[in-house]
Amino acid sequence: MEYFVNVILPIPLERHFTYSVTPEEAKVLEPGMRVSVPFGKSKIYTALVLKVHNNPPEVYEAKEIDQILDEFPIVNSIQLQHWEWIANYYMCTLGEVMRSALPSAFLLESETLILRNSEADVDENQLKDDEFLVYEALQHQSILKVHEVSAIVERKNVLPVLNRLLDKNIIYLKEEVYEQYKPKLVKYVKLGKEYLSDQALEALLETLSRAPKQSQVVLSLFQLQGNNKKPISVADLEKYSNSSKAVIGALVEKGILEEYYIQKDRINYEGGENSEIKKLNEYQLQALADIQSSFKNDKVTLLKGVTSSGKTEVYVKLISDYIDKGKQILYLLPEIALTTQLISRLQDYFGERISVFHSKYNIQERVEVWNNVLKEAPKAQIVIGARSSLFLPFNNLGLIIVDEEHEGSFKQFDPAPRYHARDAAIVLANLHKSQILLGSATPSIESYYNARQGKYGYAEINRRFGNVLMPDMELVDFKEALRKKRVKGHFSERLLEEIEESLGNGEQIILFQNRRGFAPVLECLTCGHTPQCSNCDVTLTYHQYKKQLRCHYCGYHTALPESCEACGSPELDTKGFGTEQVEGEVNKLFPEAKVGRMDLDTTRGKHAYEKIITAFEQQEMDILVGTQMLTKGLDFRNVSLVGVMNADSLLNFPDYRAHERTFQMLTQVSGRAGRTQKRGKVIIQTYNPYHQILKQVTTGDYETMFMEQVYEREQYKYPPLNRIIKITFKHKNYNTLNEAAEWFSGALRTHFGGTVLGPEFPPISRIRNQYLKNILVKIDKSESLGKTKRNIRRIEKSFNSISMYRSVRVIYNVDHI
Ligand code: ADP
Ligand code: ZN
Ligand code: ZN
Repeated sequence: MEYFVNVILPIPLERHFTYSVTPEEAKVLEPGMRVSVPFGKSKIYTALVLKVHNNPPEVYEAKEIDQILDEFPIVNSIQLQHWEWIANYYMCTLGEVMRSALPSAFLLESETLILRNSEADVDENQLKDDEFLVYEALQHQSILKVHEVSAIVERKNVLPVLNRLLDKNIIYLKEEVYEQYKPKLVKYVKLGKEYLSDQALEALLETLSRAPKQSQVVLSLFQLQGNNKKPISVADLEKYSNSSKAVIGALVEKGILEEYYIQKDRINYEGGENSEIKKLNEYQLQALADIQSSFKNDKVTLLKGVTSSGKTEVYVKLISDYIDKGKQILYLLPEIALTTQLISRLQDYFGERISVFHSKYNIQERVEVWNNVLKEAPKAQIVIGARSSLFLPFNNLGLIIVDEEHEGSFKQFDPAPRYHARDAAIVLANLHKSQILLGSATPSIESYYNARQGKYGYAEINRRFGNVLMPDMELVDFKEALRKKRVKGHFSERLLEEIEESLGNGEQIILFQNRRGFAPVLECLTCGHTPQCSNCDVTLTYHQYKKQLRCHYCGYHTALPESCEACGSPELDTKGFGTEQVEGEVNKLFPEAKVGRMDLDTTRGKHAYEKIITAFEQQEMDILVGTQMLTKGLDFRNVSLVGVMNADSLLNFPDYRAHERTFQMLTQVSGRAGRTQKRGKVIIQTYNPYHQILKQVTTGDYETMFMEQVYEREQYKYPPLNRIIKITFKHKNYNTLNEAAEWFSGALRTHFGGTVLGPEFPPISRIRNQYLKNILVKIDKSESLGKTKRNIRRIEKSFNSISMYRSVRVIYNVDHI
């Protein structure tokens, strides 16, 4: 009997692939195990087994697998079902889901090896210098890796030299897989076998009496080990005995000490569980009871609680209930809200049962969390993570909490799968038959709509914990202030007064400037020219600190020009303003105050974000200027004033969600003010003080905001009453792109009853030299989403059969937000 496996490959191709295996291999292989397989001419990929069977593929000869990589499945059947759903719903391939879902360390990639062609007839004199260096190296060792070649020729880009050598038939290339994940090993020492008896030991110390440093090390080892002979790491021994690696090394050399290794997790929480769970107040208890009764009916449940109402403490209570039931718990947060603040707050309750999983963790750390979840290890019973933690191999999931559920960053934008983590979490909960709670002070229109319709259960907390008042919000008409000359730079006198007062009281201040679409640009005062990125259709932004112009889309940057590149005039000015400029103005206006800034530029690197938050928390700064990063669930005790520099840039964003987002962002950032007894103050500067959204924000009127938004979305056929799919076309040739998009939208209009908008160029229509054009498909609730998608796929097939369009990339974004 012949045996075969169907596998997923981590590439964007529709199909599964079939490989042949031996009967022995078939016996050990199970779905969810990895195998490496040859693909194409010389590539080797990591593939995941879906099925073992006896049916040879019909149209091609199955190749043999290369090798089996796992002893047991690393992915379970619920995960595979979940992947299927994601691929299906978000219109991408299983391979793309797999690539996103597995830590990259699990996806062995082949590495190119360079070998000498022993049959080649080489005339060394004909070789260029760099060619000769590589050729010579291959006389001494049979295989070189790309980075080794790079070191030999002292150049990063080695492709030219390799290509020349290939052309001359002197080398050939081979691909080999390698494992990226290496467990971390810690070096330990113990006493050599011969010295274990008391006698031998005594004799040893005697002989060492003339080597005081060495005897100090041996004695220290004894003391450290104690009676229970616990393992002692070399690092600890070195520290405790006040000696050096050299001294310990010498003892190892003599056989007095022996080294050994223990595999160690990189991520360890050493503290204990310090805090008792807080006793909930009556409002929290009511919300908890409502949640629990909704869970009884297996409903997705929404918790709407104003900022600082104590939602987190309600989550804590729920988590502890599921811990007692021995279940795994997933606590999902937007990446940006994953702060040490929240993590240490939860660790205080749950100690080492918590694992954290997010993008700033390196591949090794991610593999460890993965393995701990897979083993159902106690230390990963609770996982706090960003959207990708959905993909961990839970086997016993009891509860999912989606905190800040309204956050747009839960939706993955690029690459595929373009999934919404909240929605994918709901599906995951379903597959596990576990409960799921969505929480927010400003729920998304969708979730609130679902709660209103009775599809979701609902609980709410309408007052802040400890009866702290909601902050006092004030709108400042900036146009009026300008007219009356009551401004300094971008600050109204009202805002300045309040800042002064807060500083006088020793309280802290947050200034919020949304940077989107409002970054400073350089403008020529003579001809009005503003420098553009040469790769993208955007204006370069001005970075004062580095004296550079930068493109935020492709990273292109250039030194600040001294004169206008169009007319040569030296009179250049900056227009618009971002956080950097606000910071500069504050420094001038309040030279005594200590000012910090938090935005994408100041928070690169693993701990940069945390450092700023900690510094602000410890009141090393008086004023913190920042972007929407500041809005995310932070709990500062001493902030009495929040200033919103310009609410209009939020309102004017060209997107059907702009109003919803403005409401959410301003409410969240205001929520940072006055979280303790004294009532906080919020000043919102705007050119449109009569805008209905700003009124709703200042009065905390979520309900009216919701009703108006639902009405508008109904009128214009947007979610939650309709579904939307955005189709993006991408190509480097402008004309090809236009024709392709026209063809596609024409076909859609002919074959499909719903609304088709576009094709239209997006606000930024060229990125990295690729033109972009969008079509928006709106699907009525009464129509089948699945059928529409199948129709779109059918059209795509015909589209791809037109040779001119084959190179146009088609990107689907289902439920685009
Ligand atoms: P939210 O998550 O709704 O913004 P938090 O859970 O951060 O609110 O609560 C706000 C503050 O009130 C926190 O400092 C928290 O420790 C405190 N708090 C909330 N509930 C309780 C409680 N039941 N007992 C004592 N303190 C509480
Ligand atoms: Zn660019
Ligand atoms: Zn000019």
